[in-house]
Amino acid sequence: MVDANGRSVGRSMRILVTGGAGFVGSHLCERLLADGHEVIALDDFSTGSPANVAHLMRSRRFWLVERDVAQPFDYEIDRVYNLASPASPARYQCDPVRTTITNVVGTLNALSCAERHGARLLQASTSEVYGDPEVHPQPEGYLGRVNPIGVRACYDEGKRCAESLVMDFHRQGRASGRIARIFNTYGPRMALDDGRAVSNFIVQALRGEELTVYGSGSQTRSFCYIDDLVEGCVRLMEHPLEVGPVNLGNPVEVTVLELAQEIVRLTGSASRIVYRPLPEDDPRQRRPAIELARRSLGFEPRVALRQGLYATIQSFRAALLGAGECSRRGEPALAS
Ligand code: NAD
Ligand code: UDP
Repeated sequence: MVDANGRSVGRSMRILVTGGAGFVGSHLCERLLADGHEVIALDDFSTGSPANVAHLMRSRRFWLVERDVAQPFDYEIDRVYNLASPASPARYQCDPVRTTITNVVGTLNALSCAERHGARLLQASTSEVYGDPEVHPQPEGYLGRVNPIGVRACYDEGKRCAESLVMDFHRQGRASGRIARIFNTYGPRMALDDGRAVSNFIVQALRGEELTVYGSGSQTRSFCYIDDLVEGCVRLMEHPLEVGPVNLGNPVEVTVLELAQEIVRLTGSASRIVYRPLPEDDPRQRRPAIELARRSLGFEPRVALRQGLYATIQSFRAALLGAGECSRRGEPALAS
């Protein structure tokens, strides 16, 4: 159960977070520890890093385990957040077969572990299950338009198959499942080199390099700050009823060009914006319909894009400074 502020109340639980050393996973582990739980982070460090959870290692309620989610595992647990999967298109297309295996076999392993211990599982699904959508914004009832043989299919179809496994375990009474359809999320601890729009643009702006907008930049996305997403995930996991797949994201939609321009402004960078070819199957528009999350979870994104970008820029600047890669000039000048 969660209280009115979304905090877990009641007994302390033992919680497994697969992909716990990644961007989203590390923030989730932090939150679950703050709520008083024991947390096991399972990760193969393929796109995440132990550095993301180094600050949690002091806790006696936190364990970090290096292993592949696609290999069977067993932990006595009450909850599983199944996040293990590369998330950026550049990363998941590097080894597409492995991406499919991670999402399909990894989810099967996580479900089997949940089944053995009577645990509940939350599956980190994605807006990519809607593909390049003809329905806008995308409600949970929209079945999507995914190219099953395209370069994004390893991820999109992997996640769709994972959803189907969760639902089958659920229908057969084998494990209680929740499905979070996560829309573009950003914040501190995104990998600097993961190739996503937010991370690329911030790094490029801070280094004084050209910002690479793909296509005309007229394609849209809706960017959710990490704290809002984590709140939604915890609320969904602890919701007493099985509410089916739920979109989690921020419904404020911007074009990719607007995002690049905002990042140039906030960093105070002199970088130019340049245009590069649009990747294959790149969705033209994306915005979550979040009425279900609002109604059933009381979910409401609180962090405005400008605010979230500001915090993210500060953390990226610190990381690049640490690597001796950017100067202190051009501090972002956001007031509120
Ligand atoms: P990330 O790459 O930072 O984190 C993924 C983590 O999973 C990494 O630590 C990685 O090392 C680990 N991992 C990958 N394959 C693994 C395997 N076979 N075994 C064990 N660990 C493995 O990405 P993220 O943005 O934190 O995404 C986390 C989850 O949320 C993913 O499932 C992703 O599909 C989902 N999601 C994220 C977004 C977003 O915008 N960030 C949007 C939709 C869905
Ligand atoms: N994008 C871009 N320049 C970049 C990286 C991404 O223009 O350097 C575009 C990408 O083509 C897509 C959008 O930004 O239209 C969001 O890309 P991202 O990889 O962040 O997430 P996606 O929503 O595609 O999974």
